[in-house]
Amino acid sequence: MRKSKNYFGIDMFRLLAAFLVVTVHTSPLCSINPAADFVLTRILARLAVPFFFVTSGFFLVKRYAKDTVKLQMFIKKTIKIYGVSILIYLPLNIYAHYFSKELLLPRIIQDIVFNGTFYHLWYLPASIFGAVITWFLIKKLDYKKSFFIVAFLYVIGLLGDSYYGIAGQFNISREFYNLLFQIMYYTRNGLFFAPIFFWLGSFIANKQINFSVLENSLGFCASLLLMVTEAITVHRFNLPRHDSMYIFLVPCIFFLFNILLELKGKRITWARDFSLVIYIIHPLMIVLVRLCARILMYKMPFARLFVENSIVHYLLVCAASLVFSWLFVNIKNKYAKNVDPTPRQKCRAWIELNLNNLTHNLNEVKKVLPNNCQVMAVVKAEAYGHRLFEFATHLEALGVNAFAVAAIDEAILLRKCGINSEILILGYTDVRRAADLKKYDLLQTIIDFDYAKALNEQNIPVKTHLKIDTGMHRLGVNFNDLPNIKDIFSFKNIKILGIYSHFSCTESLAPEDVEYTQLQLNRFHSVLDYLKENNIPVPKTHIQSTYGLLNYPQIECNYVRLGLALYGVYALPDDKTKLQLNLKPVLSLKSKVVLLRDIPQGEGVGYDRAFITERETKLATLPLGYADGLPKNFSGCVLINGFPAPIAGRICMDQLSVDVTDVPNVAVGNEVEIISLKPDSNLSAPQIAEQCGSISNELLSRLGMRLDILTV
Ligand SMILES: *Cc1c(COP(=O)(O)O)cnc(C)c1O
Repeated sequence: MRKSKNYFGIDMFRLLAAFLVVTVHTSPLCSINPAADFVLTRILARLAVPFFFVTSGFFLVKRYAKDTVKLQMFIKKTIKIYGVSILIYLPLNIYAHYFSKELLLPRIIQDIVFNGTFYHLWYLPASIFGAVITWFLIKKLDYKKSFFIVAFLYVIGLLGDSYYGIAGQFNISREFYNLLFQIMYYTRNGLFFAPIFFWLGSFIANKQINFSVLENSLGFCASLLLMVTEAITVHRFNLPRHDSMYIFLVPCIFFLFNILLELKGKRITWARDFSLVIYIIHPLMIVLVRLCARILMYKMPFARLFVENSIVHYLLVCAASLVFSWLFVNIKNKYAKNVDPTPRQKCRAWIELNLNNLTHNLNEVKKVLPNNCQVMAVVKAEAYGHRLFEFATHLEALGVNAFAVAAIDEAILLRKCGINSEILILGYTDVRRAADLKKYDLLQTIIDFDYAKALNEQNIPVKTHLKIDTGMHRLGVNFNDLPNIKDIFSFKNIKILGIYSHFSCTESLAPEDVEYTQLQLNRFHSVLDYLKENNIPVPKTHIQSTYGLLNYPQIECNYVRLGLALYGVYALPDDKTKLQLNLKPVLSLKSKVVLLRDIPQGEGVGYDRAFITERETKLATLPLGYADGLPKNFSGCVLINGFPAPIAGRICMDQLSVDVTDVPNVAVGNEVEIISLKPDSNLSAPQIAEQCGSISNELLSRLGMRLDILTV
C-alpha cells in the first residue's frame, strides 16, 4: 500500500485524458497536418482509456483480496451510469435506424455486454468486466500468476487489434478471430483490454514501487517512444484491424501513473465527475456543434468554420462538453441526497488503526537492530487482532520482507492479500498439506525429528526453518539431539533455510531468568557450532522476539521475530526493559452511543441485576460485547467526549451499558473509546489487560472479526 496520498497528478490527468478522448472523435489537427493528427489521435490519445482503467483499479482493487463491498459498489455505480448513458444516446440510435436492423435482440445483448450501445460507451461494460476479472484473479492467485493471465488476455486482444495482420495469416487463428468477432466487434473490450490495466492499478496500489522519479520519467519516455515506433510500424505493414492496443502501451501507462503519483498539489475534487461526464457526453456535443453550424450557416457564413476547421471544431466540442459537465455536476450536487459523510465503518463498533504509528514503531526498532539483522513481522492471529491485510500490506510497503504466522491458512491468506515476502509458519502444519506449502511458497517450521521425517516422506520439496528446543519445551528438536539434527539436514525434500529457537522468560530481568535465557542462548549456539564442525552451512538464525530484543539487544542473529514492538504495546503496563524505545500503540477500539435512557434509583441493569442504580442514572447502551473480544470481566471505564464513563453491570455478548450521568452533553451518536491510544487514559491495551488478569497479546488477539476496521 502506498504511504503518501498524492492524488493531484491523477486528478489533473483525468481532465487531460478526457480531452484526449475528445480528440479521437474530432481529429483536431487533421486540417493542419494529418501526420500530426495521426500521432495525436491514434497513438497518444490511446493512453486515455487505459489510464482510466488503471485509476479505477488503483482505488478499487486495493482491498481486492478481502473486501467485495467496494467492488459491488463500483459495479452498481457503473451500471447506473451505463443505464443513463444508454438512455441519453437512445435518440441518436433511433436516428441511425439502430432498431430496424436484423437479429435485433442478440445484437442488443452483444452491444450492451461488449460493444456499447453507442460507439464510445463500450468503456462502461469494459470497466465492469475488467474489475471483476481482475478481482477474481487476484483473489484466487497471487500477483505474479494473475499477471500472466491478464497479459495472456491482452495478447489475444493485441492479435485481434493492432496485430490482426499476423493472426489473419494462419488458418486456426483466423477461424478463432472470425468466431470471436461474431460475438464482439473488437477485442478492445472488458475481456482482452481492460484487465491488464486494472491489474496494474491494483499492483501499484499494493506494492511499493521503488523506482525514482528519474527512472519513472526515463521509463515513460522510452516506452512512449517505443509505442510511437510500434504504432507507425504496424501501420506501415498494414497489420491493424483496429488500433487501440499496443504492446508498449502497458509499460507506458505504468510509468506514467507512477509519475502522476509523485506530483504534489491539492486534489482537484471535481476532476472525477467532470472527466466522466465529458467522456460520456462529448459525442452528443459533436452532433450538437454540427447541428448548430448547419443552422447558423444560413445567416452567418463563418459558422462553416465550426465544422471545417478542425481545431475550432475540437475547441467548440470541448467547450460545449465542459459547460454541460459544469451544469450537470452542479445540478447533481444540488439535488444529491445529503449523504452522511461518516464512513461506513463507524456504524457500530470498530478498530481504528493508526498506520503512522506502525511506521514509527518500525523505524524505532530499526534504530537498535544489529547489522545484518532484519525484522520478521509476527502477524499471527490476524496481526494480534489488528487485521492481517491492513497490517501486513502496510509493513511490506515499508520494506519488511519477512513475515511469521502460526498456521498455514494464515500464511495462505497473507499470499491472497498480495504479500510476496517470505512467510514462516511458526506452528504445526499437517504434513498432508505439503503441496500447499510448496504451492504458496511457504516456510514450515520443523517441530521435531519425527515431523521432519514425515514431511520428507511426502515427496514434495518444501522450504523450512528448523526449530531447536533450548528450554521452552514446546516445539523443536532438542538441542542435545545432534545426530538427529544432522540427519534432518540430509533429508532430500526438506530445504532448511533457517534455524531458530524461542526464549521462555526474556520479559523478566530477575537474575535467575537472565541466567536461564543465557543458558538457552548457549544451547542454541552449541547447535550452531556443531553444524559448523560438521561442515553444514548455518542457515539464517533467529531467537529473539520483542522482549528478547529489548532486554538482550546485543544478540546477533539474522532476524528478530517482532510482534508486540510493532503493535507498540508492552504485554503489561509496568514492564521495564533495558532498551527503552519510544513505541506508540497502533490500535484503538471505538464504538458509539446508540441509546440513552434515564433510569430511576434502585433499578437493576443487565443480566443478574449485577448493577443496581444508586441514584437517578443516565445510561448509554453501546453496541459491542464479549463476542467482539471485550473481556467479560472488564469493569473499568470507557471514554465518551473525553470523560470516563463506568461500565454498568455485566458485559453482554453484543452490548454493554455505561453510566453516563456524569458525562456532560452526552448524545446518541457520540463516539466512545474503549481501548485508547492515549497513554494517560488508563485505557491502553496493557492497562485493560492487566485489570482483567491477562496480557495485551491476549486482549488484542481476541478482538473479533465482527468489528469493522478503519485505517487512519
Ligand atoms: C508470537 C511469537 C513471537 C512474537 O512475540 P512478541 O513478544 O509479540 O514479539 C515470536 N516468536 C514466536 C515463536 C512466537 O510464537
